[in-house]
Amino acid sequence: MTCPCCSGKSYEDCCQPYHTKEKFPPTSEALMRSRFSAFAIPNGEYLWETTSPGKRKFHSKKSLQEWGEINDWTKLEIVDTPSMNKVEFKAFYTDEDGNPQVHHELSTFKTIQNRWYYVSGVFLD
Ligand SMILES: [Zn+2]
Repeated sequence: MTCPCCSGKSYEDCCQPYHTKEKFPPTSEALMRSRFSAFAIPNGEYLWETTSPGKRKFHSKKSLQEWGEINDWTKLEIVDTPSMNKVEFKAFYTDEDGNPQVHHELSTFKTIQNRWYYVSGVFLD
């Protein structure tokens, strides 16, 4: 299958090795893409584990999994990568009522022992 992150590659050659922990995403953009794919699959555990340990208390595996399941994840667009640890993106999805939605966010990431983690995001219009 084509990778849900819209890289144009197959899932096996793109985000799957990150989801199975064979590899770790080398950049914040790669992590961001793999997290979008993890909503599409969905894989709440991966979303939880790639959240910065200090921020995990604001999320739960169950709610991340459910958010992935109830929406239909159609497209990811990377808008900008203004620095090593920031990614601006638009995530397109159809909500449970069938309405098309766009989630536009500037996310901040950080590395801990050479692994990238999602810290937080600012929602944009
Ligand atoms: Zn991918």
